[in-house]
Amino acid sequence: MEKWPIGVFTSVDAGLGVKLEVAHELGIPTIQLHAPHQASRTKENAQQFLSRLRELGIELTCVFGGFEGESYANIPTVACTVGLVPRETRAARLAEMKEIADFARVLGCDAVGLHLGFVPHDASDPLYQETVDVTRDLCNHCAALGQALHLETGQETADALIEFIMNVECQNLFINFDPANMILYGTGEPIAALERVGQYVRSVHCKDGKWAKHPGEEWGQEVPLGEGDVGMENYLRTLDKIGYHGPLTIEREIPQEPERQKAEIGHAVKLLTELKAKIG
Ligand code: MG
Repeated sequence: MEKWPIGVFTSVDAGLGVKLEVAHELGIPTIQLHAPHQASRTKENAQQFLSRLRELGIELTCVFGGFEGESYANIPTVACTVGLVPRETRAARLAEMKEIADFARVLGCDAVGLHLGFVPHDASDPLYQETVDVTRDLCNHCAALGQALHLETGQETADALIEFIMNVECQNLFINFDPANMILYGTGEPIAALERVGQYVRSVHCKDGKWAKHPGEEWGQEVPLGEGDVGMENYLRTLDKIGYHGPLTIEREIPQEPERQKAEIGHAVKLLTELKAKIG
């Protein structure tokens, strides 16, 4: 693979990713995929999707799981609805994540990702150890399929994330670094965080955001790439510094209106292409 192929977060029938056709029209060579709903995750659909990817010459680099009932309405709601942390939904979601990993395997994809949820900050909280255990269980399932598990950044500080990964003690547990999430959740300055977690970064999102007035209490604002507080040139230079040469996957959480998506994603592709040429 060339250094830093451009990518985009796509969706077949769920989430806010762009459609595969948009990626193709923009000449984007790699995608991450928001896992389709359970009814669509058949072997037949996977094989159809795979042949469509081959036709378009697009490489799938990571499949992200998401769950019914998750809400990003505000930060406290994230804590009680997102990922594998909430107890009430954990067993069902673990089973579903394993199915998603199996689906990704059929797609020939060796990485699956997710928002784990708000890992408690206090390691002596019983919920912390439970989250370590469920993550290990999922990692073991992925390892048997020859896959890595990528944790989306945002809800934890860089130090908390490293400590968590060390506690899980699995060789296939890595990070999908999202610089905007650090700003949106108010969990740390993204460039410093990236340097800190660098050795664990195996995939990234190119997304931008502006700090909230009271970071950590309220959301920052997600904005088009290059218009926020991440600093895209510095971001790419830091990715270079930590030795990350994998896909630059654009993520933009806007509704699926093809024209708007094409315009905004097209603008992001142009920005990243210019920066790639500049930084190499
Ligand atoms: Mg992201």
